Amino acid sequence: MLVRLQSWSLKAPKPTPIRSGFFVSRTRQKLAFVSGRETKNTAASSGGGFWHFQAGAQWSTERSEGTPVVRAAVESLTLPQVLGCIFKQEHNGAPSEAKVPQSWCLLPALAGYIIQTESVHLVFITGLTMAKNIVVIGGGIMGLNSAYYLQKSGHQVVVLDKSEMTGGASYVNAGYLTPSHIVPLAAPGMMAKGLKYMFNSSSPFYLKPRLDPDFLKWAWYFHKSSTREKVERAIPIIARINVLSKALYEGIHQSGDLGDFQLEKKGLLMLFKTQELGAEELEVMKRVQGLGLEAQALNKAEIQDLQPGLNSDIQGGIHYQCDAHTTPTQLMERFKSFLPQVGVEIHTGTTVTGFTSRGNILTGVQTTQGFFEADEVVMASGAWSPLLSKKLGVKLPLQAGKGYRIDVARPTPVRIPAILMETKVAITPMDGFTRLAGTMELSGINHHIRKNRVEAIARLTEQYYDTFKIEPAELQGAACGLRPVTPDGLPYIGRVRSWKNLCLATGHAMMGWSLGPVTGKLITEIISGKKPSMNLEAFDPERRF
Ligand SMILES: Cc1cc2nc3c(=O)[nH]c(=O)nc-3n(C[C@H](O)[C@H](O)[C@H](O)COP(=O)(O)OP(=O)(O)OC[C@H]3O[C@@H](n4cnc5c(N)ncnc54)[C@H](O)[C@@H]3O)c2cc1C
Repeated sequence: MLVRLQSWSLKAPKPTPIRSGFFVSRTRQKLAFVSGRETKNTAASSGGGFWHFQAGAQWSTERSEGTPVVRAAVESLTLPQVLGCIFKQEHNGAPSEAKVPQSWCLLPALAGYIIQTESVHLVFITGLTMAKNIVVIGGGIMGLNSAYYLQKSGHQVVVLDKSEMTGGASYVNAGYLTPSHIVPLAAPGMMAKGLKYMFNSSSPFYLKPRLDPDFLKWAWYFHKSSTREKVERAIPIIARINVLSKALYEGIHQSGDLGDFQLEKKGLLMLFKTQELGAEELEVMKRVQGLGLEAQALNKAEIQDLQPGLNSDIQGGIHYQCDAHTTPTQLMERFKSFLPQVGVEIHTGTTVTGFTSRGNILTGVQTTQGFFEADEVVMASGAWSPLLSKKLGVKLPLQAGKGYRIDVARPTPVRIPAILMETKVAITPMDGFTRLAGTMELSGINHHIRKNRVEAIARLTEQYYDTFKIEPAELQGAACGLRPVTPDGLPYIGRVRSWKNLCLATGHAMMGWSLGPVTGKLITEIISGKKPSMNLEAFDPERRF
């Protein structure tokens, strides 16, 4: 276990080797540590309320944005009551003793102090973080965002993925950041639509009939979640988590960590050909506006002005200016190149096959490439998560919802992202190409590309744009990905009761791309023992449906 102490300094002192020091506990509890280079578990002894450790500990100093950061290898430390610490520096080449009044260490460690004399370097901890070794299972958008924020909080992160991390849901999605998508999939009437479409394998929503007990249970929970009351409860939660995530996307963009990437704020058009769907969407728009989000109803002429080249059958649309879009393949590549630069290990071709534990604590994960020790495990394994959680006795109602994409790498009339309401096809002008994405196919875990579905996406798109024709080679290049779909449309973010150091970050269904950053942030807050940015009750992985 690593403890990372970030000191705040008035003088930005030069980091110097630390020879000995104290950790002080507010509650005077024994803080058991330090493993030395040779001296194992150097005795912690009490001296007037201090716990004292000796030289030989694995200390090192480094600089982070001009601030000295002290790292120490520590065997176990029961936090969070540590208030301050004192380190003694090397003085003329020899370690020297220092007597520190107890009262110094009772000062609240809020702002951070450094009192420096020639021999004593006193650091009051400003933001104490227990740096942990964290294994993240899954290198999709959830896994990489978790790694991003965990690393920023000082943790040591390893990402394991069974694939080569070049495809799947996080690569094929429509790239929308969608505060406007406030209605969960499990809405009144969806079950009936699913049953109606059951035997039509080119419909936008397809349930493959099968007698799999997990699927049947999921379908029952889905049905139970599709009530007006439950949807009403979910709407503000979905809006809030989306808004938080969009702001984090902007933060990542501004930080420059990932370089420049496409994050366009042109909004999203919901286009309709029938007044019936138009009226339905108008109701959604009013709800979206009521939540303080920007949206506007447009008539036929206004729609044509905004997006020329649309078919004249289109009756109108709603412009959700609150939404934004990105290019998923671009962003995933940026994450993959940035994270190793800051010390995150990414292991592809590494399938997690099992876990080791001590009592109710996971100690590591077994993989096809060996064992990885862990203080914390984050399960961000997308549609495969129930298969892994089952190994730990955690039942996770979750189904794979397959979707397809067709990329068109030549000029197209598409300027603004749009969802074609009658067909549920999403069209996005990405960086260098246009993407068509669609269908929700609940047919289990498989990557079988159903040609009739792909053709339906292309054909239905052509009906909305006068000059947009999809070439056979573009259809051939279609790919699919599996959305991890929960019965109630809300993700699983948080801990489970049976394992103290397991976090789940999955089940985001159609909003996973949108919710990547906020999920990474929430997971980091949970693991770092901080107050989460929002109430997590609705995302409890063990909630009842
Ligand atoms: C066609 C389509 C369009 C979409 N459009 C949008 C959109 O516009 N906006 C939006 O917000 N969302 C959209 N989504 C949804 C979004 O893409 C997903 O919710 C999101 O990508 C899920 O990310 P994830 O990290 O949970 O899962 P994944 O991306 O599936 O990643 C999980 C990873 O875990 C790995 N893994 C699994 N098991 C193991 C194991 N045992 N050991 C090691 N590794 C393992 C897998 O290899 C995989 O790489 C769309 C999805 C699709 C399919």
